[in-house]
Amino acid sequence: MAFQWGLGRWLGSGVFGTTLPPFNRAAFIRDEPGITLFNAHVSGHVDPASTARQNIVDAAAGLPAKTSDNSHVGTTNVTLDANMLRAILEINLVNGYTFRVTTIAGGRHSATSAHYTGKAFDIDTINNVRVTTANPLNQAFKNACTAYGATYVRGPGDDADHATHIHCAWP
Ligand SMILES: [Zn+2]
Repeated sequence: MAFQWGLGRWLGSGVFGTTLPPFNRAAFIRDEPGITLFNAHVSGHVDPASTARQNIVDAAAGLPAKTSDNSHVGTTNVTLDANMLRAILEINLVNGYTFRVTTIAGGRHSATSAHYTGKAFDIDTINNVRVTTANPLNQAFKNACTAYGATYVRGPGDDADHATHIHCAWP
């Protein structure tokens, strides 16, 4: 009798239930020292609610990330893509690169940008070296994004818009 009562309590505690919180990748990204999250905008535009850092802080808290007020879509709420979050975390923890994320959902991009749906991120340093055509790690970083499911990856040498950053986007 006592055993059955105890088992019942255990089953109801959340260990096997649905109340156990899912693995919160955004919280790991927020707290990972090898991943720098820019707390401003590359353009100089001031919109603290939509910086890369605030996007991740919000996602870690279970809140939507915000696009920027000066973007094509204005300020909107978006859910950050789970595969993108996995890539941001694992390119650091598994692939071993440190990098700075300049933009996730925020910033102003092309009109139909994947940033506006929470499916793209930009970086401008790899292992503390700025992303330019001279950075020898560009291709390795781009390959890592592709390995984690990114389907549109651009960087220096690909086109003029990506001369100083790498853009990784998920479908
Ligand atoms: Zn981008």
